[in-house]
Amino acid sequence: MSGEILYSVRDLVVEYDTRTGPLRAVDGVSLDIRRGEILGLVGESGCGKSTLGKAMMRLLPRNARIAKGELLFDGQDLMSLSEEQMRHVRGGKIGMVFQDPMTSLNPVQRIIDHITETIKTHKPDASDDEARERAEFLVERLGIRKDRLDDYPHQLSGGMRQRVMIALALALNCDLVIADEPTTSLDVIVEAKFLDLLRDLRDEFNLTILMITHNIGVVAEVADRVAVMYAGEMAEVGDVHPVFAEPAHPYTEGLLKSVPNIALDEEELYQMKGGPPNLLHPPAGCRFNPRCPYVMDICVSQDPPMFPVHGGGGVAACWLRDPERKRSESD
Ligand code: ATP
Ligand code: SF4
Repeated sequence: MSGEILYSVRDLVVEYDTRTGPLRAVDGVSLDIRRGEILGLVGESGCGKSTLGKAMMRLLPRNARIAKGELLFDGQDLMSLSEEQMRHVRGGKIGMVFQDPMTSLNPVQRIIDHITETIKTHKPDASDDEARERAEFLVERLGIRKDRLDDYPHQLSGGMRQRVMIALALALNCDLVIADEPTTSLDVIVEAKFLDLLRDLRDEFNLTILMITHNIGVVAEVADRVAVMYAGEMAEVGDVHPVFAEPAHPYTEGLLKSVPNIALDEEELYQMKGGPPNLLHPPAGCRFNPRCPYVMDICVSQDPPMFPVHGGGGVAACWLRDPERKRSESD
């Protein structure tokens, strides 16, 4: 991994128009994705993960808009591109893998046609034989027998369809793959194999992967770094090992304690109290304050900024990590 930033999201605000007013699904999020890393973006349902992923591709639904912020991909400001130019970025630089690939695969087109068409978009001079050969190499690399190339999408299992989506991203030579809940519909064994494969592909093809998931266990399996979102905001970002060993944000701690197997030295599975807030009316101050076991006076009135934690670029939006507070306590 180079440490070079491939994608930088700066102070992003995304709003949906709803019948009851504008809903800020992403509210002032900044996030850097480093070239060659697997970054896990995690949080409970409704925290804005998918909206952030879609905004990064500028693929939002009609009732949504990017109200503010910058999307800097490989030195290019994506917000300044026309829709036509954006299609080139999506078709050649950033690939997406969704939970249900059936929605992205044409049901009446065979897998071979999906992949060879994609190869030819990327390399218009490739002959039919060359495109077929490359398609066979890619699917076999992904653990699918090459005779399955003549199948239609519905003839493949969910896990195979996920791998076809990855093959399409590889066919394009994408720099970045955004995978939104790619393993949610897979059983645990297929999921584990898929995660192993992702790691291998990252190494072999120098891919950068943003893995969006509600399952922090998946992040533990596969990611180098983790970004934890809560109620439209970023709660904590850092390398997986320090974040999992010593979470700096009480929400991250709650998420980790709620997972079987990676529970932090607790005998019984922990359940976080309450649920995420309604984003039409988020609580004042720290949005996690109604659920936080460590809430302090300042938390209900002032939104915490990001404080450095763990060294190595880790950050957490929690007043407990305010160096000023630590200093005044030790006075
Ligand atoms: P999930 O895993 O359940 O999809 P998520 O963390 O990815 O959750 P989003 O889907 O990004 O969260 O949703 C964030 C917020 O935006 C939620 O409050 C959701 O209700 C709202 N939202 C999402 N899509 C729309 C839409 N098309 N119109 C209005 N509100 C939406
Ligand atoms: Fe809890 Fe306060 Fe930290 Fe928010 S800022 S997570 S309420 S301690």
